[in-house]
Formats: sequence, C-alpha cells, structure tokens
Amino acid sequence: MTFHLWGSERNDLVEPGRTIVEHLAPERASTLLADLVRIRSQNSIDAEVAVAEYIAGFVDRLGLEVEVEEVSPGRPNVIARLVGAGGPSLTFNSHMDTVPEGAGWTRGPFDGSIVDRRLYGRGAVDAKGSLAAILAAIEAFVLSGVRLGGDVSVSAVVDEEAGSAGARALTKHFVPDFAIVGEPTSLEVVVAHRGSLRPVIVVHGRTAHSSVPSAGENAIYRALPVIEALRSYALELNGEHPLCGSPSGAVTVIGAGVGENVIPDRCEIIFDRRMIPGEVEELVREEIEAVLAKVRSAHPEVRVAVERHLPTTGPSSEMDPSSEFVRTVQQAVVAAGGPGTLAGMTGACDMTHFRAAGVATVALGPGDPLRAHEPDENIDVDELHRGAIAYAYCALAICGEAS
Ligand SMILES: [Zn+2]
Repeated sequence: MTFHLWGSERNDLVEPGRTIVEHLAPERASTLLADLVRIRSQNSIDAEVAVAEYIAGFVDRLGLEVEVEEVSPGRPNVIARLVGAGGPSLTFNSHMDTVPEGAGWTRGPFDGSIVDRRLYGRGAVDAKGSLAAILAAIEAFVLSGVRLGGDVSVSAVVDEEAGSAGARALTKHFVPDFAIVGEPTSLEVVVAHRGSLRPVIVVHGRTAHSSVPSAGENAIYRALPVIEALRSYALELNGEHPLCGSPSGAVTVIGAGVGENVIPDRCEIIFDRRMIPGEVEELVREEIEAVLAKVRSAHPEVRVAVERHLPTTGPSSEMDPSSEFVRTVQQAVVAAGGPGTLAGMTGACDMTHFRAAGVATVALGPGDPLRAHEPDENIDVDELHRGAIAYAYCALAICGEAS
C-alpha cells in the first residue's frame, strides 16, 4: 500500500490507513445502504427530506458540524464537516434522490434485501450506494481517532436526477479545494462526462373540425419536416472525446392533439441533445436554432420555434487526467482493491457544477452504472465495502494527517 500524500511523496500513511480500515466493518456500508433504500426519495414523487434527516442525524451523532440548506420546501441539502487543521479541503458529494421505481421488479424496490451478496433496491447503485460508502468512511475516521490535515465534508444534495437544483444551490457558497462526486463508476475514476440540453420545440397550426381538415392547419403534419431535420442534424453530429465518445441527439417525446375529432393546432417536440466535453452549450443552442431556420426557409408555411429548455443536470465537464489530484485518487482506489482506471461517463452528473465553481473534481463510486435506473437495481456488497475504503484512503491522501 503506497500513498502519495498531496504535495509530497511520503509513504507514511500506511499506519493511519490501517487504523481507519480496522474501524470499518465489512458489512457496515451495506447496513447503511439498506436503511437508505428503505427511505423512498424518488424524484418528482417523494421529497428527499427523510433521507436528509437520516444523514443529518447520523453525522450529528458522530460529532460533525452539520448545516441544512433548504433548496425548496421539503428539499434540503445536508453539509457536514469534519474539521481538520487548515490543510486542503475535500468534499464527498452525492445525491439523495433516485429515479422512480418503475416497472419490472422481481424483488421489493424498497426492501434493501441482500441475495447472493448483492443488495437490491431503487437507488442501491445510483447513488445511495455511494452515500452509504461515504457515511461508513466518515464514521471510520471518527472512530479511529485519526485527525485529518484538511476539512473533509459530506455534501448530500437534492434533485440530481432532474434539474440539479441541489448542486446548483450548494456550489454558489460551498467551494472546497477538491470534490469527489459519488456516482456509480465501478470504482473507476471518472474525469469527464457528457452534458445535456433539452429544447422544447413547438410547431404551430390552426385548429378545425376534423371532418373538414382543409379548414385548419394540422400541426402534426407541419412538424414532419422539423422532425426530419432534427434526425439529419443528429446523424451528422461529429466529434469524438477519448473517454466520452461522440455527441448525440434524439427526438424523445412528441405531444400533440386534444381530441380524436379535432385538427391539432400545436405539436411539441422534445429533443435530447448530449454534449461532449469541449462543446459549448450556447453554441449548441445556436446550432439547433440554425436547424429550425433552415426548415423555415425551405417550408415557409411551417411556424416553428424553441419555446423553452427543460431543466437538465447541466453541461459537460472534464478534469485534467494527468493532474496530481486525479493520480492521487487513482492510487487510493488501487490501494483499496478497486480498478482506479480513468473513465468517462456518457450521462450527466453534478461534477459539472463543482467544475464550474473552480473545484478540482472527479466522480467515483461503487456499483455498475449499467444497473442504474433499471428494475432489480443491485450492488455487490463487497464492492460497496471497497468503495468505503477507497473514500477513506482518498481523504487521507488528499487532506493528509494532522501532525
Ligand atoms: Zn446518480
């Protein structure tokens, strides 16, 4: 086990590392995860308040400084600090909301049952597994008596699965030196992720009785060249990021019609555009406007415009993979028995808000990202434990031990 302490190459973290792991029971993170899975926090169905109360109570009992920030009614972020001795500060950030339960489960989505050393439940992977591993690591720090050089904090936020209201509010006033965003990465170190932009494009027509279609303008028919143009635009997107792949676009929702005997006067098209690091959101908005302008000039009868943009997690972001911070995290993960390899994410994540605030950030967590948002979402409890050790080693390596 070799640690590279921030700013030096000392290897004297072996002993405190061992002491901390001695206070981290192999089943601890899975016990906490089962508790978290049993507290429902499906985005747009349940608020996160009960999860926030659980976390705030847990860290308060450990003696951390706890702050609760209400982002909107019933939706609080929790920030808890283990105060260090003035060295570099690190936050472990993750989100408390999950996607809705959905259909197709063969086990109870809110039972937290363990079968063949896998824990099942909505959020087990995304991202309550990371939250549980973070809490287990913090508890082991406190119990071990090892004192860190810098502040280490837990920042648990609301609303990552929709508009990232929690991380947006948090990073306005909370700017640590380093952040590790707990998302399922199979313990790979994610340094880049794609972002998303979701315009709602509206095509207008004129309503009429459907027995006389020619008396109106059918907005669904008017939408056809718009849909075709968006399809061509998506097919022609190019660019390649070494870890995140290519940009993409897709029409994902179409809404029109008020009755089976009425010519529709309005057709709404939602376009889901995924941006790779390097693509600028403002320029992508302009690209989409240009697509619509081309349709209007080829088909003057089509009245089409971007009406609004749906909230998303945010734009893409990336972190220099050769930075000392990234290499330190990689080494800490390897020391914990994880892969620690560099990776990119095709989806979006709250890392973007920390990067925008100037915080050096990676995403790292236990759990297979392909199982996120699926029925029978589940996580390997041994990987969960390795995740907790990896987080503890990261904090020790980044914040250092107080002398
Ligand atoms: Zn997530």
